[in-house]
Amino acid sequence: MVKDTKLYNVLELSPECSESDIKKAYKKLALKYHPDKNPDAADKFKEIAHAYDILSDSEKRAKYDRFGEEGIGEGGGVSAEDLFSSFFGGGFFPGARSARTGPKKGKDLNHVIKVSLEELYTGKTTKLSLNKTVICQKCEGRGGKKGAVKKCDTCNGTGVRMIVRQLGPMLQQIQQYCNDCNGEGTVIRESDKCKSCNAKKTVNERKVLEVHIDKGMKNGQKITFAGEADQKPGEEPGDVIIELSEKPHDRFIRRGDDLFYTAKIDLLTALAGGQFSVKHLDDKVLLVKVPPGDALRPGQYKALAEYGMPSYRHHNCGNLLIKFDIEFPEPNWTSQETIVKLEEILPKRPRLDLDIQNDSVEDVSLQELTVEEEQRAAHILTNGAPEEDDDDEEHRHGVQCAQQ
Ligand SMILES: [Zn+2]
Ligand SMILES: [Zn+2]
Repeated sequence: MVKDTKLYNVLELSPECSESDIKKAYKKLALKYHPDKNPDAADKFKEIAHAYDILSDSEKRAKYDRFGEEGIGEGGGVSAEDLFSSFFGGGFFPGARSARTGPKKGKDLNHVIKVSLEELYTGKTTKLSLNKTVICQKCEGRGGKKGAVKKCDTCNGTGVRMIVRQLGPMLQQIQQYCNDCNGEGTVIRESDKCKSCNAKKTVNERKVLEVHIDKGMKNGQKITFAGEADQKPGEEPGDVIIELSEKPHDRFIRRGDDLFYTAKIDLLTALAGGQFSVKHLDDKVLLVKVPPGDALRPGQYKALAEYGMPSYRHHNCGNLLIKFDIEFPEPNWTSQETIVKLEEILPKRPRLDLDIQNDSVEDVSLQELTVEEEQRAAHILTNGAPEEDDDDEEHRHGVQCAQQ
């Protein structure tokens, strides 16, 4: 019996699996969850790498099976990305970093900023202020005077202590964080502590980053400030990663580099030509001509070439696609006089393909709906009928069954 199956679960394996099962499972899952393919799965990817790091090493695996994760202790972990590179060879994905040497990298700081379509159309520079920790200048990150930093005697400079516990007939060895040095392996005498950082080695600083949002950037696009995250001694600082989140727009919908716009056109302009205007994202107004005789149909699309979004980097523009929503005049415009005129102008009414003698034909007339009833009908059409409940009775009173 193993103490804990968590790491096996991560790799979707049972504790009885073979070494080659572990390799195969890692290969499959690491490819699936690699951050270059699956940006939201960074944590999952790290978990997979961590599980593989332990289970693929027979010594670590044996310890894990007996004592669980506590039995392994913290130190000596490999970065998920380095493990991936060593397994697959560097550069498998365009963004895969080759095995890194040198100090380990600190945590990245992720931040989302909301941007309007106008800002993505014209470009913008925005300031972002963040609070971060930086290496204390006064003590150069040592926490005290030169030479004041001493090895911790309690843990002999390792930052951890091994504790042996009797558990029934077994002796269990547990690795624990050293309290005397907070796991750092070093201590500083009170009088030698740096006054500026109080021996914490870092101080807080407010930093303003200038975020340059270039024309044509997209929703979800990331802007990276390398090494601008929190500084810690002995660690390469992580990056500040800013993700753009495009706010919905009330006039335009963006799809790639194309913009979509719905133009409300009166019936006369649609049938006989005229003009309409579109206020663009940079406040420029486009005056669009509808040539006479070029009748527009409801729901038809036309394009204004190169009036869409600028593409990122190259800045050549996509298209502005216009969908026509043709507005009919108010219902009372059809006086007897205009009806006669319309009958002269418009094509004849179509003949019904009906045999009044033989088909079973019933004369019926349309019933008006209130605006509310109309909305309700449209809602039901898109979302399906609501659950039956007593309230519905009120809404149904207006329309009665025509049968009987
Ligand atoms: Zn210690
Ligand atoms: Zn200091």
